[in-house]
Amino acid sequence: MTSLFFTLFFLLRPDYVWVAVRPAPLPNRPTLLPMKRSLQLLVLSALSLSGSAGLAAPASGPAFYGDAPDANHPWAIHDRNRPQPKRVEPGTYSTAAQPGKPPSDAIVLFDGTAASLAKWESDPKPGEAATPTKWIINDGALECVPKSGYIRTKEEFGDCQLHIEWAAPKDVKGDSQGRGNSGVFLMGRAEVQVLDNYDNPTYSDGFAASVYGINPPLANALRAPGEFQVYDIVFRRPVHKDGKLVDPGYITVFCNGVLVQDATPLEGPGGHLKRSIPVEFPAKGPLKLQDHGNPVRFRNIWYRPLPPRAVEGGTEGVLTAEATAAKRSRIATDIRADAATLQSTAQMLRLAESLVYAPDPATLKRVDSLATAYATEVGALAGGALEAKKEEAKSVRRAFAYLGKSKVISADYAPRVALDRIALANNWDEVKK
Ligand code: MG
Repeated sequence: MTSLFFTLFFLLRPDYVWVAVRPAPLPNRPTLLPMKRSLQLLVLSALSLSGSAGLAAPASGPAFYGDAPDANHPWAIHDRNRPQPKRVEPGTYSTAAQPGKPPSDAIVLFDGTAASLAKWESDPKPGEAATPTKWIINDGALECVPKSGYIRTKEEFGDCQLHIEWAAPKDVKGDSQGRGNSGVFLMGRAEVQVLDNYDNPTYSDGFAASVYGINPPLANALRAPGEFQVYDIVFRRPVHKDGKLVDPGYITVFCNGVLVQDATPLEGPGGHLKRSIPVEFPAKGPLKLQDHGNPVRFRNIWYRPLPPRAVEGGTEGVLTAEATAAKRSRIATDIRADAATLQSTAQMLRLAESLVYAPDPATLKRVDSLATAYATEVGALAGGALEAKKEEAKSVRRAFAYLGKSKVISADYAPRVALDRIALANNWDEVKK
């Protein structure tokens, strides 16, 4: 029995990952990789790598071949183990006369129906109970009844993509903050201003699409009063950890398709007169619409919840060392489960791949056993039998070279040395001229 020559340094410096090319690649994917020859390491076209266990359905084309996972990135660059994005059917754009259709995974808050109006209630003073909203549906739009008070969603949510359309009264009255004023309050706190500023100056940090009291919009992209304006908002609430601010939160706003807030940091909830200071937000809150005394109308209100950021426990993006190690361990476990559905050489390679993510003595032992048997098997072949095995053996050899660079195996790992010897004896590395 060959002793173990594997050395496990992948958590210290897993600089390389191997390269695989699956059978029947998609026509628009490269089958040979735009990389240095030294990194074109493993071609598994003859080997089945089907099956999955917690991993996304494997895509055709190259397996992961970019930079390996590291201390803060659990995935390799171009990692084929990384799940595919979920499918969302896109909606349609609104026209002046007709609201568009939300994307398939949107949560609708108002669509012109009485059922959606029932998703809203009054915004009572602390200690008082909410009552059904007095705002009305007028020609399919949700219209503020002046002096009836703010309204809020019964549902509470935090980080989101919010779509909302509003129209100031066509009959222009008042000026500055008194003309077509309302507001979209994310989590009931931070206001994206709603105001008829089409031809109506006011203080800039209270302009339409300002983060009220914090930041003016980058542009005035409003349509004329009476027409519907479209706000698309990306809201990230401030995140505190152990009483300390770790992420200020951001608001991005498109007004009628024009970027007007570019990930504006929240210096607090914003507000009237006073400079905001950062305060802790809860995990979720209702969406509120303001009654500022003007019969502003709203339509086509929907949102899509956003996944947590890494800073609040999300598992995508740049992670802490601890979160990265935990995720790499999960990925390795999934790859090993997938490997269990495979046989012989394919299983050996898939198991070895898992070691790029996380060490595991039992896996290492199994890989060594399979690798040793493989080298022995190929070493016993000659003539046509060896020739028939040549391409696969070369692939395995390239995998070994790759694993060597990843420090998963050492330079003098016996099966690797054996395959190198066979290659040398048979001129496999000879460059054809
Ligand atoms: Mg307002």
